[in-house]
Amino acid sequence: MVNALTIDVEEHFCYAYPGESLPLEQWDGLERRAVPQTLETLAILEAHDIRATFFVLGWVAERDPFLVEEIRARGHEVGSHGYGHQLVYRQTSEQFRDDVQRSIDIIGGISGEAPVGYRAPSFSIRNDCLWALDVLADLGFRYDSSICPTQLRHYGSPGQPAEAHRLDNGLWEFPPATTRVAGIDVPFGGGGYLRLYPFFLTRWATHRLNAAGRPAVIYLHPWELDPNPPLGPRSGLRRFQHTVGLAKTRSRLLHLCAEFDFAPIGDVLRSLPGSDELRLGFAAAK
Ligand SMILES: [Zn+2]
Repeated sequence: MVNALTIDVEEHFCYAYPGESLPLEQWDGLERRAVPQTLETLAILEAHDIRATFFVLGWVAERDPFLVEEIRARGHEVGSHGYGHQLVYRQTSEQFRDDVQRSIDIIGGISGEAPVGYRAPSFSIRNDCLWALDVLADLGFRYDSSICPTQLRHYGSPGQPAEAHRLDNGLWEFPPATTRVAGIDVPFGGGGYLRLYPFFLTRWATHRLNAAGRPAVIYLHPWELDPNPPLGPRSGLRRFQHTVGLAKTRSRLLHLCAEFDFAPIGDVLRSLPGSDELRLGFAAAK
């Protein structure tokens, strides 16, 4: 079973929570670390001969375009993480379209190919803004990986399928990995969950999904490889969320790479039943 490894390329200050995020206008005055952190991520994957999907934030690509070229040159797939890392459910349809279109223009302008995969900041496509999926289909995306099928504090869409599935508008949805425990789909595949849980739980849950014939979508951020990121003005809870287990990220990634097979989401989707039409049109990694 080939799983999907996904990397959200953003800066450490691109966090987005309701009422708590740094305004875009302030970002240019902050220390940027995404380049060395992403290059480090690329080196780890290269050492394990693993390819992944990198959802690159348009703002980052705009400032460091060579990063997009570098990711592609090493055989990975480049998707969009939007431009300004705004919560989808806090935007109008028009604002969302403009933000995503801006990222397409930037990433497509660098790579020569429009991204076909999208991930929303903080998995913020929820049940109250599913219109976003039609916007994505209209913008030419082939798949989305933004809907977490369980209720969490600021995101999550209870009732949505936990496995990859095709929507009526033709878009494929590829949710982050969850495993069902006591009737609840529990996230385990990335971010703070990957850092907080003992690794044997991540391992068990991944094997469990694979045994059921389902690939796991694992995600992480290059800033999670930095054990001492600048934290800036954020609350105690956010500090905890962003720093818990950071020292473990590298070893968790190494363990995952050593034990499981991974590929970009585009490759994984092409292997799914009913996805024959996806064989054409993908910006496939070479
Ligand atoms: Zn993000």
